[in-house]
Amino acid sequence: MIPAVRWAELRPDDFRARFDACPIVYLPIGLVEPHGHVAALGLDLIKADHYCDEAARRFGGIVAPSQGYHIHECGFHAPWLSEVVGEENPLLAALPPHVMVSLFLYQLRAFANTGFQAVVAVSGHSGGSQNDLRAAAAAFTAATGLPVVVKTDPEWTAGVHSGDHAGRYEISQLLAIRPELVDLRLLGRRHEAGSGGRLALGDDAAQASAEEGRAINELIVTNIGREVATLRAAAAARPRPPRLLSYDDIERIRATLPPGPAGWHSSVPAPAQAPVPPDSRWHPYARLA
Ligand SMILES: [Zn+2]
Repeated sequence: MIPAVRWAELRPDDFRARFDACPIVYLPIGLVEPHGHVAALGLDLIKADHYCDEAARRFGGIVAPSQGYHIHECGFHAPWLSEVVGEENPLLAALPPHVMVSLFLYQLRAFANTGFQAVVAVSGHSGGSQNDLRAAAAAFTAATGLPVVVKTDPEWTAGVHSGDHAGRYEISQLLAIRPELVDLRLLGRRHEAGSGGRLALGDDAAQASAEEGRAINELIVTNIGREVATLRAAAAARPRPPRLLSYDDIERIRATLPPGPAGWHSSVPAPAQAPVPPDSRWHPYARLA
C-alpha cells in the first residue's frame, strides 16, 4: 500500500508520526491554463502534486493542501498570451501578484504555526512569477527564521533539461505521470475552425514521450531530495523554538513588500517583448499600476 503523505489524508496520530520523523512540509503550486488541445489544463498543478507526493514518500515530510491558483495573465504573461492564445477564451484561473503573495505568506504562517522546520514550495508554473514568491519567502525567512525554498520544476533540471510550455518537456512530464490526460491525436485540432486555435501548444509537442518524461520527473524528485537533505541537516543543527505567528506578524512582513499590483516581477513585460495590441483582452494587464 502507498503510504499517505497528504496533510488532508492523515489522521492526527499519523500526522504527528510523519512530522516527528521529518518536520518538512511541501507546498504544490500550479494552476489551470491551456496546454494545447492535447493536454489537461491542470498540467502545472498535476506535476507539482506528483513531485511533492513522490518526494514525501521517498524522503519524508508532509504535503500541504495544493495551491491551485497562481500568478498569470499580468506583466510578461500578457504579451505571451496575446501571441500563443490570442483572443480565445484561455480557460485560465489566475491571481494577481499582490493577492497571491498575501495568500502565500498566510500559508507559510500556517506551516510555521504547525511547527514545520522548513518549507519546500514546488511550482509547476514557471517563467518568472516564482521571483515574486521568492521575494515573499525571503521576507518571511528574514522575520521568522523558517527556511522556505521556492523553485519551479525546470529549476531542478537546470543544465540537463530546459523547461518549456506545452512542448516536448511538459507534455513528456504529463505522459509519464497521467498518460490518460494526454491525447497526441489532437495535435492538429488547432487548425480546425472553432477549436480555439493553438491554445499555447509548444512547437515540439509531437516529440514528447513517456520515457523522456520519466527521466525528467526522476531527476526533479532526486534533486528535491537533495534539497530536503540539506534542509533537514540545518533544521537538526538549529531547531527553531516554537513561536506562534499572529496576523499582525504576517502583516508586518507583508508591509515590507509592494502593497498593490505594481512593483512585482510579474507586474511588467520583459524588455524585449512586443507590446500587446490595445484592443486585446490582455492589454489591461500588461503593465500593472
Ligand atoms: Zn505548464
